[in-house]
Amino acid sequence: MFEKEVAVLRIGHRLVRDDRTTTHAILVSRAFGSSIMYMTDIDEEIKNTINKVNSSWGGLSEFNLKIIDNWKNLIKDWKDKEEGKIVHLTMYGRQINEAINEIKSIKQKILVIIGAEKVPKEVYSLADYNISIGNQPHSEIAALAIFLDRLFEGQQFDKGFSDGKIEIIPSEKGKTVIRKERK
Ligand code: SAM
Repeated sequence: MFEKEVAVLRIGHRLVRDDRTTTHAILVSRAFGSSIMYMTDIDEEIKNTINKVNSSWGGLSEFNLKIIDNWKNLIKDWKDKEEGKIVHLTMYGRQINEAINEIKSIKQKILVIIGAEKVPKEVYSLADYNISIGNQPHSEIAALAIFLDRLFEGQQFDKGFSDGKIEIIPSEKGKTVIRKERK
């Protein structure tokens, strides 16, 4: 299951929210197994933060952040080129428990759409699947984490990231960290 290629698109960015929410959405996308995240309306500073994370913790070749001007063009391209299926996460959608096996059987790539705020109505019809993680309002970060975890069945945590300078050795107590020298 883990071989499946997943991209994430977050639509919108609330200026009143702090940049930490945006950064956390990207970090979850990276840590939970997606290979690329597309975002609109964010500044280069956030991109620099993620580049630093990839450089320290690995993943320069496994995870990419792309800032795009127009999310509609991305979706249109994705559909025109038949890149894969589009899964939009929304509290109004079909329940994840009922839909997950169908989604797991998709052979193509998956583009997961999350919103930073209310998502335009047309996204509901452009998506192949509108999926809820429970039918209560919560957060795009939680929704994304649960969706990716259900899709990858936890295997994303075994894959590791290449070329990192820091690696954690899991331990019952304390912190065990290896710092590697790059040649
Ligand atoms: N009215 C929104 C909705 O359609 O889910 C809630 C907006 S919430 C501030 C921002 C994003 O969080 C949504 O666009 C959606 O991607 C995600 N989200 C929030 N609650 C969710 C839920 N129960 N299931 C799936 N996604 C959810």
